[in-house]
Amino acid sequence: MSAYWVQNLLKLQDLDMEIRNLKLRLTMIPKEAEKLQQEIAKIEGKVKIAKEKKAAHDRELKQTEAEIAELNDKIGKLQTQSALVKKNTEYQAMLGSIAMLKNSISDLESKQLELMDTLAADDQAIRQAISDVKPETAGLREELKELAELFSDVKKRGRELLTQRPDLRSMVDSEILPRYEQILQKNTTPPLVPVEIDKCGNCHLRLTPQTLNSARAGAITFCDNCMHIIYMPDEQD
Ligand SMILES: [Zn+2]
Repeated sequence: MSAYWVQNLLKLQDLDMEIRNLKLRLTMIPKEAEKLQQEIAKIEGKVKIAKEKKAAHDRELKQTEAEIAELNDKIGKLQTQSALVKKNTEYQAMLGSIAMLKNSISDLESKQLELMDTLAADDQAIRQAISDVKPETAGLREELKELAELFSDVKKRGRELLTQRPDLRSMVDSEILPRYEQILQKNTTPPLVPVEIDKCGNCHLRLTPQTLNSARAGAITFCDNCMHIIYMPDEQD
């Protein structure tokens, strides 16, 4: 059997390590939730992107329609003027201009038809994006819910452990307690570690024979190197 001070300190240390672990989880869970929310926003963003694409094509279509109207207007004016022209060369030049404008209109009308097809495809893409949102985010929302539940469970367990701590703390030898809590605050590793054959269980450096003897005798002993508290585990007694 290990010395009493070791047994009691191990109980407190187990509790402290669990509290530390819970605290770590409490900081990690909101980060995981944040990632899930970003994924949901990204999926929902696909609808917005699809709508923006359609709006851009809509603007392009209106612009094309305006250009066609403008060219038709020019043709109308040229036709009116051509009726007043006396010289045949001028008349021919005007007819040439009108023909060129009509060509341009024909190109714009082809573009108009293409844009109408594109807009129909845009509508389809918007519908698809909307119908994808629910199935694609359902699982993520479920995960979010589970994370929220886990968070409150972890918090609850942490509170339970904190209420148990004063009792366990009061059982620990007062000679070792301040040193233990000091190491606990400064380190991520447990302050109380078993001797591993002839080495410290924390820094793994060889311990002096005097230190090993002290640990074997069950006295409060520190590692010569890292100053963690060491004890001789049962099987090496
Ligand atoms: Zn050490």
